[in-house]
Amino acid sequence: MAFKVENFINGEVSNSNTNEYLPIYNPTTGEEIGKVCNSNENDFNDVIKSSKDGFNIWSKYTPLKRSRVLFNYKSLIETNVDRLAEIVSTEHGKTLNDAKGSIIRGLEVVEFACGIPHLLKGEFSQNVGTGIDSWSVRQPLGITIGITPFNFPAMVPMWMFPLSIACGNSFVLKPSEKNPSCAIELAKLFTEAGLPKGVLNVLNGDKRSVNWLIENEDISSISFVGSTPVAKYIYENSAKNLKRVQSLGGAKNHLVVMPDANIDQAVDGIMGAAYGSAGERCMAVSVAVAVGDIADELVKKINLSAQKLKAGPWTDEDSDMGPVISKDNKLKIENYISRGVEEGAKLINDGRNFKIQGYENGYFLGPTLFDNVTKDMIIYKEEIFGPVLSVVRAKDYDEALSLVNNHQFGNGTSIYTSDGEVARHFTTNAKIGMVGVNVPIPVPMAFHSFGGWKQSLFGDHSMHGMEGVHFYTKLKTMTSRWPKNIQVGSQFVLPTN
Ligand code: NAD
Repeated sequence: MAFKVENFINGEVSNSNTNEYLPIYNPTTGEEIGKVCNSNENDFNDVIKSSKDGFNIWSKYTPLKRSRVLFNYKSLIETNVDRLAEIVSTEHGKTLNDAKGSIIRGLEVVEFACGIPHLLKGEFSQNVGTGIDSWSVRQPLGITIGITPFNFPAMVPMWMFPLSIACGNSFVLKPSEKNPSCAIELAKLFTEAGLPKGVLNVLNGDKRSVNWLIENEDISSISFVGSTPVAKYIYENSAKNLKRVQSLGGAKNHLVVMPDANIDQAVDGIMGAAYGSAGERCMAVSVAVAVGDIADELVKKINLSAQKLKAGPWTDEDSDMGPVISKDNKLKIENYISRGVEEGAKLINDGRNFKIQGYENGYFLGPTLFDNVTKDMIIYKEEIFGPVLSVVRAKDYDEALSLVNNHQFGNGTSIYTSDGEVARHFTTNAKIGMVGVNVPIPVPMAFHSFGGWKQSLFGDHSMHGMEGVHFYTKLKTMTSRWPKNIQVGSQFVLPTN
């Protein structure tokens, strides 16, 4: 039966004031399974009022008291992980284990945020001048915002709101309209954990809601994750409206395979990284750079493994990857494959016209492999965001590094090698935010920070870890002395001792 997704305002599900609803599809079957409200200005105003009230109460909680609510939340997520994963798989299509994994990675941010009393400890310097002490603290910002993409409906929001809330802010989440249900469930569980009303609100809708959020003067900060053109738009317009902003965009991640690498290990790494979640990960490997004379062997082995890969519905435990998110995205990816052929790349495995019995209307594509891709081709330059891997042949390490460094995106990269000196040179010199050595997807844990360079991140702060704590707080530095009597009269030069 078709369901309706509304907003979550003031600690409860709140029916929208709008009559306008957007369709939600099940990518596995292609059926419309529900609708989500496209919020109107009244909904938006309710959210802002509630978030202000929430902030006034919550920012006065001691960090320790906030931490106790987060510990409760952690337990509730653990109890509900299977249910949340099913919601993610139904609306996204990724396999159940992959969906569970993404929730656990989000949970790790909650676990990190449980340590907020320690994370907010300030700095203190005694006797910065004679009898003068100085210290600094980090204070919450106010109302903070998260605008998130379809590919991780639980994990990406959880990179943001647990830490922002732990820091004492209120938070408004605007999830992807393609799969909004999990956000509501996450908000309900936080309320059950003891979060006061209004501290976490969920506003559903499309870009209209986003524009209200980035323009409103009561809002302090914007965290965005999505495609690069929108990330750039959000960065420019949020800054214009004097917001603090971190805006994460798209990617084209290279995995460099050196001639001295263990090829089988590299192939295992490439398979999961290129085709897991149907390539719809911002850290997916979409380019394998084969260095020197290993290219033929590498392509042959990737192709053999790709033939064995099983695309299928998430309800089937044997599926390695599911469908892509929508009919439009499927068409866009198929067009990229056709473009690659036209441009002269060698199509080794064609994922177009891929049908699964019983799921003929699902948005499935098979694992696609191109060889002899060159840097001037569109399929190399642009993000495809689907199960399409391009192999580029490089004559040596220097050429491989220059490919990585000259690409417009700078999210992640990785090198497979048995040479420590080469690995060290790569980690030092790659102009990329997250770098792996013999690790295919170098996603940092919650206590480190996630973020790319170049067209993959606009703004100064990455997500979660200490970068997250700094993004969601503002620094205040105090200087004080307590003399009994006037010691020195008025001074007209800068004091230096
Ligand atoms: P998207 O940019 O289409 O949408 C992201 C969010 O922005 C959604 O909530 C959407 O409603 C909103 N939005 C869309 N168009 C808008 C507009 N014109 N104005 C204002 N808001 C708008 O992205 P998507 O298709 O949902 O997600 C896939 C993209 O996200 C890929 O490019 C992927 O690489 C990227 N991504 C990046 C990271 C990262 O960490 N860098 C992580 C996950 C996904």
